[in-house]
Amino acid sequence: MNPFEQQRPIPGVAFIVAVSSGKGGVGKSTVAANLALAHAKTGARVGLLDADIYGPSQPRMFGAIAQKPRVIGENKIEPLFRYGVKLMSMGFLVDENAALVWRGPMLFKAMEQLLREVHWGELDYLLVDLPPGTGDVQLSLAQKVPVNGAIAVTTPQNVALADVKKSINMFQQIKIPILGVIENMAHFLGPNGEKLEMFPRGEIDTYMKLNDIGKLGEIPFHPQLSAACEVGIPIVESQPSHVISKQFIETAKALRARLG
Ligand code: ADP
Repeated sequence: MNPFEQQRPIPGVAFIVAVSSGKGGVGKSTVAANLALAHAKTGARVGLLDADIYGPSQPRMFGAIAQKPRVIGENKIEPLFRYGVKLMSMGFLVDENAALVWRGPMLFKAMEQLLREVHWGELDYLLVDLPPGTGDVQLSLAQKVPVNGAIAVTTPQNVALADVKKSINMFQQIKIPILGVIENMAHFLGPNGEKLEMFPRGEIDTYMKLNDIGKLGEIPFHPQLSAACEVGIPIVESQPSHVISKQFIETAKALRARLG
């Protein structure tokens, strides 16, 4: 059977975008949360599906730990509506430790539920925060819905590049277009706004050029970005005119332009 035979759009959802990373800790979830908010702030209807089943962090980032989404009607789940974003996370449905042992069929079922049993309503963009790396969640997403494209979040060093390459290769194999790279912790902003490099810059630019992959945005390292997520109000929500928030708004615009 063609593995993509099960693919069906989600009624009402215009674009489905996967937010991926080659490895953990590069800031994928932080970027996904703030990017979703940047879309909301600029007038788009946006949903964020936290499919990072093994370590869902969006409930914390949105200050929604211990929240339980309501069940409506027979078997539809109403996503949370937080800071203008429709939010659903595996973390709302199951205990984090329970999902750790899930493999293939369980994950396929969970993804089905998150995509189809959630009442997403009308959305311009549904961002899907994937687990890092390449695995069953990525595959089940590709098999179930027509994903318009994937964003690869990475830091600029070579140690992250090796993993991002694997992740991009996987998306190419499962026929999901790469929309571009978001470079996180790209640099540190000096007192006069100058860019100070934090990490030795690897060959990411050469790799992107050779493979015709564009950059959607560059997010500097900033302690307030991290602090805002810790308290459950991401920076684009708490300080929309902060220099970092502006970067996220620019990145959201670049993504929209890329999707057309
Ligand atoms: P991932 O989803 O890739 O595992 P997270 O989004 O959880 O990574 O981020 C890992 C840690 O790095 C978090 O503590 C987060 O607040 C912090 N972080 C991410 N991006 C930045 C940044 N640009 N500046 C400062 N801290 C950041």
